[in-house]
Amino acid sequence: MHYGKKTKENEPYWFSPWHKGRPGWHIECSAMAMKYLGESFDIHAGGEDNIFPHHENEIAQSEAATGKPFVKYWLHTRHVLLKGEKMSKSYKRLIYLRDAIKKHGASNLRLFLLSTHYRKQLMYDEELIEEAKVHVDRIKKTVQLLNRFSINGRDEMKEYEKQLIESSKEAMKKFIESMNDDFNTPLAIKVIVDFSRQILSYIEQEGILSKEASRSLLEFFDNTCKIIFGDLYEKEIKVRLNDVIINWIEKLIRERNELRKQGKFEEADKIREEIRKLGIEVEDSKNFTFWYVKNLNIYK
Ligand SMILES: [Zn+2]
Repeated sequence: MHYGKKTKENEPYWFSPWHKGRPGWHIECSAMAMKYLGESFDIHAGGEDNIFPHHENEIAQSEAATGKPFVKYWLHTRHVLLKGEKMSKSYKRLIYLRDAIKKHGASNLRLFLLSTHYRKQLMYDEELIEEAKVHVDRIKKTVQLLNRFSINGRDEMKEYEKQLIESSKEAMKKFIESMNDDFNTPLAIKVIVDFSRQILSYIEQEGILSKEASRSLLEFFDNTCKIIFGDLYEKEIKVRLNDVIINWIEKLIRERNELRKQGKFEEADKIREEIRKLGIEVEDSKNFTFWYVKNLNIYK
């Protein structure tokens, strides 16, 4: 067990009876974990390569020091594979997280990573990241529309909206069950994606929802997406622009739709391109046009 290491040049050190030294990384982890989480805590995570010797040493030295159980649950993730092999610095088979975030967007990448169960090997695959993006876009659209309809939606609630509210309770139950089942994030994500699809297909026919239903359905997304996306939910998913910008975008969309009615499709497309340049997606259903903020990416 490495309780300590002889110090190398330019490293911080403490005096010991043997040499100038510093704590080894097993003891660093025990010390940090105890400082911030206490002598016993619930969950300790790490990569599969940490199981032995690192985590066994953490347990041995922590429990020897306190006489208490150190950790209740250990979560060991498997490695992300690149082209079928473990990422490796020495073979230059490596993608840095910061580059992947820059390229794909943080919430897209996060959904992709959580789409495989943490105990299963995950393949870094750009095609699968593109699939994750489609899901994230659908969630963004649903959440942002519900958020706007909760303010400017219809006053009365239609029958189907009551059914949707009932479904949201079912979906919430399924989401919790999936997460309680050893963090089955692929299933939990599927619950969110499926339910947002159900809501969107209704909105696309109706054009609008009632304020009350929107508020109630939004709660489902607030509660579940904050778990899946963390802070990114408010930053990238539930984006709400200020009213001046909202009115301006809606005016542009009305102009575009007017041009389309007159058969001036080229000019109409130009307006849509202008709006898209701002990171805002404009989509038409059979009778209505919807927009949502797609790429307001704070990391770019
Ligand atoms: Zn550790």
